Amino acid sequence: MPVMADEPEASVTTVERRPNCPGCGEPWLRPTQLPGRFRCVYCLSRYQLVSQCPDCGVHQTIARMSTTEDMTCQSCGGSMLSPI
Ligand SMILES: [Zn+2]
Ligand SMILES: [Zn+2]
Repeated sequence: MPVMADEPEASVTTVERRPNCPGCGEPWLRPTQLPGRFRCVYCLSRYQLVSQCPDCGVHQTIARMSTTEDMTCQSCGGSMLSPI
């Protein structure tokens, strides 16, 4: 699949960028009706988005919860998803 390298960053669509499941690694994590809760439709695990990194303990500001970057610790790069 060709990638347009000169595409402005602000216009990059996030439609196809689904977060990977921390459990099975498949990009099938879907938001549930509850805010901050996600469910993997591949392995059926459930996760919640936490404000404190489980790995390094740094607090993150959750601005949006739709892209992978918002679920990644900006300090250590770990997942901010905690199994329910
Ligand atoms: Zn999964
Ligand atoms: Zn961290």
